[in-house]
Amino acid sequence: MSRSHDLFEAAQRHIPGGVNSPVRAFRGVGGDPVFFERAEGPYAYDADGKRYVDYVGSWGPMILGHAHPEVLAAVRERLDKGLSFGAPTELETTMADKVCELVPSMDMVRMVSSGTEATMSALRLARGYTGRDKIVKFEGCYHGHADSLLVKAGSGALTLGEPNSPGVPAALAELTLTLRYNDIDQVREVFAEIGSEIACIIVEPVAGNMNCIPPVPGFLEGLREVCDQYGAVLIFDEVMTGFRVSVGGAQKHFGITPDMTALGKVIGGGMPVGAFGGKQEIMSHVSPLGPVYQAGTLSGNPIAMAAGLKTLELISAPGFYEQLTATAKALLDGLQTRANAAGIPFTTNQAGGMFGLFFSGQPVTNFEQATQCNQDQFKAFFHGMLDEGVYLAPSAFEAGFVSIMHKDEHIQATLDAAEKVFAKIAG
Ligand code: PMP
Repeated sequence: MSRSHDLFEAAQRHIPGGVNSPVRAFRGVGGDPVFFERAEGPYAYDADGKRYVDYVGSWGPMILGHAHPEVLAAVRERLDKGLSFGAPTELETTMADKVCELVPSMDMVRMVSSGTEATMSALRLARGYTGRDKIVKFEGCYHGHADSLLVKAGSGALTLGEPNSPGVPAALAELTLTLRYNDIDQVREVFAEIGSEIACIIVEPVAGNMNCIPPVPGFLEGLREVCDQYGAVLIFDEVMTGFRVSVGGAQKHFGITPDMTALGKVIGGGMPVGAFGGKQEIMSHVSPLGPVYQAGTLSGNPIAMAAGLKTLELISAPGFYEQLTATAKALLDGLQTRANAAGIPFTTNQAGGMFGLFFSGQPVTNFEQATQCNQDQFKAFFHGMLDEGVYLAPSAFEAGFVSIMHKDEHIQATLDAAEKVFAKIAG
């Protein structure tokens, strides 16, 4: 038996399900989760010393590859100065300036410690600012696990068949209207009826928690129009897409300006960080400037800021996103060719450095199509690739990620593995 197996047994004694975040438990694919020991560049090494080409990248943050020497050096330099002060540091201003430079729709930004906190706080602010309670989200989108957002959610909630979590008071869930992603007509209909009661629309500008589903042309534009027309706040949840789809996020890529943005993952370079921000007019309602309360003991933590800042500096290099996008495209083109050769219905989606793999013969542009893909083939593919030393997200409802350290040789090794695995699946 593998050491991962033994570690998983031990973990389950005192950790619910043996994991500190549900998708890690492999419930979506079956079998024991892989316990990791260390990671470097495009590779992660498990507790038995086996090496994997990693396409999860800690669910997005490791865009520079694992253990990037310059990021580690930035962290080391801060370590001797102390881990946390609970008081302002210059680093936080440097971070805020950098974020507002890279994401021009943000005039002001508040740092938090996770994506969940970022969206939860953005939501409270949108409600406090508009004086309205109802919110609109989309089925299959995941915005962290705040009560109002755990309604028809994606990611682990979807994988584990609990998109509506017990424990979320019905009175609160009723205020969350969940509409169909990429269906702007439905959004217009709902706003025509009750638009004046809706505080905000929160959306993943590229959905990455029901696998990877880019917006169809007109969808994000339509959301912008509707929010303008009814005085609702448009929140882009760019926790996943921020600094991932382009240096300015999906909003830059698609040319749509939201009122508020939630960030996470890449902004912390692998440390626990999130952020929310937007127009000054809205952000000036946040405490202590305004009455909407929001706080955090470790918010703006100096070690996390050091890792994040170095990451943002390195991803700002010219040509970074062209390379990242080309890497993802080479991977997807290669997989498509090999699936076709094996006669397996297969399609892919891509936005910059994030991608989706679907066992379906049709293009996938919405939640329903994503859930109708062949789950058995996905599971077989996942486990086949795992055996071959390729680590993919252990669920059909998660996006995959490449890093700048994924080079031709790693893509080629992945494609060689896929050729074998597709052949096996085809029988
Ligand atoms: N929003 C999106 C779009 C996400 O993908 C995630 C996490 N995958 C979150 C919010 C929540 O972030 P965290 O897990 O850091 O709380």
